[in-house]
Amino acid sequence: MKLICEISVHNRMAPHVKPRSQQSTLALGYHPPSAKKDADNLFLIHFTATNKVGTRYKLKRNIEKVFTKFVQDGKSTFSLKQPPHDLQIRCDPISLKAFLQTFKNALEGKLDPAKPGLSTLAVTGVPKKAVPVKSMTILSPSDYPLKGLPKTLTTLIINGIRKCSLDSSILSLNNLQILNMSNNHIEHLPKKLGDLPLVQMDLSNNRLGKSVFSDWDWIDKQRIKSSLQNLNLSGNELRVFPYKLVKLRKLMVLTLKNNCLQHVPFSIRRLKSLRTLNLADNQFKSLPDVFSRISLDTLDVSGEEMFLSPFAISIAPHDPMAVICRQPPTLWQLATKIVMTKKIKYGPCDLPATVIDSLEEFPLCGCGLLCPPINIHFQACIVNVRTTSLVQSHHMTSIPGDSVYCSDYCRRHKYFI
Ligand SMILES: [Zn+2]
Repeated sequence: MKLICEISVHNRMAPHVKPRSQQSTLALGYHPPSAKKDADNLFLIHFTATNKVGTRYKLKRNIEKVFTKFVQDGKSTFSLKQPPHDLQIRCDPISLKAFLQTFKNALEGKLDPAKPGLSTLAVTGVPKKAVPVKSMTILSPSDYPLKGLPKTLTTLIINGIRKCSLDSSILSLNNLQILNMSNNHIEHLPKKLGDLPLVQMDLSNNRLGKSVFSDWDWIDKQRIKSSLQNLNLSGNELRVFPYKLVKLRKLMVLTLKNNCLQHVPFSIRRLKSLRTLNLADNQFKSLPDVFSRISLDTLDVSGEEMFLSPFAISIAPHDPMAVICRQPPTLWQLATKIVMTKKIKYGPCDLPATVIDSLEEFPLCGCGLLCPPINIHFQACIVNVRTTSLVQSHHMTSIPGDSVYCSDYCRRHKYFI
């Protein structure tokens, strides 16, 4: 039985030597070829492109430990006694599980010798055709592979073929890190998209603006929240900022160019890793003053229709144009305010998820308090953007902003940042 995988060999006698991950074939079988098929003659052979003879490891009474905690992620480690090597394996989880099961059965002598099972280890290294395909570019429907997309893909580009959805063959690519589906007709993103370990995703020039809010539920998945660093949603006719984007805590580059957006939520401050934000060619009237708190390398707010509304032009900065909302608060709003003002520590076990979400996404007053939607005071201001590179059109002299205060006291005392 063979496993096509990536292996790094860690020599425990040389802990200072950092192992290098190599494309490998790991073969499990009996040796020598004429040997009796029992556990005493069971071997692992590790082949690489440079080691075509392979390194042979006897298995009976030679296993220190087999680490299987992260099999679901396609990772496992064989720790051997002699030589003192740790084979750190990485491949697709389904193949790995099958390999480990066969390995266990063979070692326990549970494989029936009469049935075809493990071969003798007269095998050689990686046959050329078995080298996994890592990257694929599809620029016309005829480029689609007849046998389906290889599970080993880490990069997939499907560009300009009027594709309307992400089909299940894409959503099952468990190793996919870079997905480019720009210039298609995608309106809907399935929730399962959030299960892929994507680092970079380009969905520019699609039709996501036609979808409803639920289409952003893929962002709720833990895997994508902890992996996605670069997201391009340019040219998607977006009219509302997809507020769930602020949950992508690893996001460093966000491109929302050429949409129809008018507001950025105050909660954008949660994107603590964000370094580059492109908001060009939208219809923003103002930006929230949280931009005074976020440190960006580049902010692009250029565009002929940006900050052109009467609001931005006619209202002088710091004018006391406060909008005071005095509706009766709900019970959860009152409870939320107590949690905030008393600075009570909370976690997923203490509060409903919706309350935690709200606590995280409320605007922040200059005094440092979060503002629940009761007694919020808005005011026009000028945003002092903190960025090393600000790209704006020539007609802009300053960027109008919205400040939010938790109380009338704060508004009168104007906590400017
Ligand atoms: Zn305040």
